[in-house]
Amino acid sequence: MKYIIIGACAAGLACAEQIRKEDASGEITVFTKEAYLPYSRPSISYLLKGAVKEKDMYLRKPSYYAAKRIHFVRDTAITAIDTKNKTVKAGRKAYAYDKLCICTGSKPFVPPMKHVEGKSNVFCFLDLASAKAVKAAAKPHTRAVVIGAGLIGMKAAEGLSKICQSVDVVELAPRILPSILDQKSSKLVKNHVEKEGHIRFHLAQTVSEARSKGERISSVVLNSGEVLACDMLVIAVGVRPETALAEAAGLSVNRGILTDSKTMQTSQKDVYAAGDCTVSTDMLDGSKKIIALYPNAVYQGTVAGAQMAGGSQELGGCYAVNAIDFYGLRICTCGLINAAGEPYRDKVRHSGEAYKRLIFEDNRLVGFVLINASQNAGIYTNLIENQSDITALEQDIFDTPSLFMFDKAQREKRLKGAL
Ligand SMILES: Cc1cc2nc3c(=O)[nH]c(=O)nc-3n(C[C@H](O)[C@H](O)[C@H](O)COP(=O)(O)OP(=O)(O)OC[C@H]3O[C@@H](n4cnc5c(N)ncnc54)[C@H](O)[C@@H]3O)c2cc1C
Repeated sequence: MKYIIIGACAAGLACAEQIRKEDASGEITVFTKEAYLPYSRPSISYLLKGAVKEKDMYLRKPSYYAAKRIHFVRDTAITAIDTKNKTVKAGRKAYAYDKLCICTGSKPFVPPMKHVEGKSNVFCFLDLASAKAVKAAAKPHTRAVVIGAGLIGMKAAEGLSKICQSVDVVELAPRILPSILDQKSSKLVKNHVEKEGHIRFHLAQTVSEARSKGERISSVVLNSGEVLACDMLVIAVGVRPETALAEAAGLSVNRGILTDSKTMQTSQKDVYAAGDCTVSTDMLDGSKKIIALYPNAVYQGTVAGAQMAGGSQELGGCYAVNAIDFYGLRICTCGLINAAGEPYRDKVRHSGEAYKRLIFEDNRLVGFVLINASQNAGIYTNLIENQSDITALEQDIFDTPSLFMFDKAQREKRLKGAL
């Protein structure tokens, strides 16, 4: 059996490893347009701020791939998929497959801005190559501007603030980290980052144009008219699923690649897709969305790999979950953190820089935001994933750690309301 995987990051690696578990002899080839073997993409911000070295970012050793007979073809972009003849093309070369998985991830979204394109001090921050370029360009006298206060923009800003003279972050939304934090917790994190990181935020703003000196941008103009001096511009507005290959091959795509929600097979037999390039169904509210997060990519890649190799593992359910830290603030969020109004309700506890918010729908926990209060994140995630009935212990859950006092069997009894 010949397996081809396009993309060698979280989803692609998980897919290859699962195929090998199910099929000891199949031929596994993974194409990546990057120059590197699989590495931890979230760690690029740690590379920027000097907290990790490049050698520590790689997910496995080269000898591991040799032992597992997973063959990587680097620096090679797949340019076309021919589902009729079951081949993929890299330029003129064609490679045959029996089963194919598309794990092409995300591409950066660059909003229209005047006089930005082609300038030498403009960067994205999405992969190891771009992180190295940003790191090489960032100097102690650099005045950096980051567009976007989402996860990627904030991580870029944190890294840059350890190196540069100043960092300005421009965000269209009225708050930072809008997709992982609610309004109150967003404010808490913003205050902390401003204090600790000396980052200036420009919220509900965007960059309308840049001013240049030769090939370099020298300042940016916000829509308010304010002008920010700028030696380096990092565009981190957001990402979009990389679906060009799938679309050209005639697969069903609606923002992301559409797959069967149990098997990850696309609209075409023997072609699977996993990770950031796909549309996920959020198990908590049934909505179709792009969940561009690492654990989701690994999960989907594993299921796709199992299915490709004849295994029985199916996708259980997807939801957003995230654990990060900014300047020492430990942030864990999960589920429907922006759910508001009927049928949702919440409980909030806030003291100094510790914040706990649980979000409920009827008798189920459907989300949480924890800042410097992550002791019970595992239990909460478990309750969310299992959609447990928490009627008997809603307050108990909120007041944890009381649940820890019980062993697993007792806890399950309590969850059923029997204690
Ligand atoms: C700075 C940063 C911080 C992040 N922090 C977090 C975090 O804290 N928590 C979290 O859960 N997630 C985080 N993420 C998101 C996480 O990294 C992604 O969700 C995850 O990497 C998705 O994995 P993937 O395999 O689907 O796609 P990707 O990681 O995007 O990998 C896709 C790969 O496919 C390759 N490719 C694309 N097209 C082709 C082609 N035609 N031919 C060959 N190769 C191709 C790409 O070059 C890329 O190497 C972060 C991302 C970034 C950039």
